[in-house]
Amino acid sequence: MDQTPARLTVLAGPTAVGKGTVSADVRARYPEVWLSVSATTRSPRPGEVDGVHYLFVTPERFDQMVAAGEFLEWAVVHGRHRYGTPRGPVLEHLRAGVPALLEIDLAGARQVRAAMPDARFVFLAPPSWAELERRLVGRGTEDAEERERRLATARVELAAEAEFDHTIVNDDVQRATDELIEVMGLTAR
Ligand code: 5GP
Repeated sequence: MDQTPARLTVLAGPTAVGKGTVSADVRARYPEVWLSVSATTRSPRPGEVDGVHYLFVTPERFDQMVAAGEFLEWAVVHGRHRYGTPRGPVLEHLRAGVPALLEIDLAGARQVRAAMPDARFVFLAPPSWAELERRLVGRGTEDAEERERRLATARVELAAEAEFDHTIVNDDVQRATDELIEVMGLTAR
């Protein structure tokens, strides 16, 4: 591991576009990339592990973290739960020369751009709106009201693509991951 500060990459994009799947693929295939673990006030889904997928915290604990200035960015996502990126681990990894990846929403990406303008901003796009809707329904983890809320957010998020440095279309997870790795200046394999 060298001591040259590495560059931060922010992956954003509409709900259900597959950011989680792409970042899991990055984690599995490119262990040299460090994936930030966000804090969230939402409850774990089946199979999600505290400290691995998210830090699952109470609203009170989230308040404390905000007050202590522990977040690089945080946002209310889909008008409901709060999600935030703890700042310390991001800076530590970058200082140690480890390429770091954040998978966050648009509001969070804008805060990171304000705080760290040198970061690389990547927009993960669905092949089409119809495909995005199909994926959201197909996932089956949200009720109808929550799905509508997420689709409303997705419409706003899709319109923000031009703010990003790169767009990657998630037509195939492995291909999208390879493209992300190349954009990060690493070698796809
Ligand atoms: P989910 O509840 O499906 O895991 O995530 C919902 C949304 O929250 C996703 O669009 C994801 O990108 C976003 N998200 C996850 N972690 C963070 C974070 O630390 N900050 C922000 N701003 N958004 C996040």
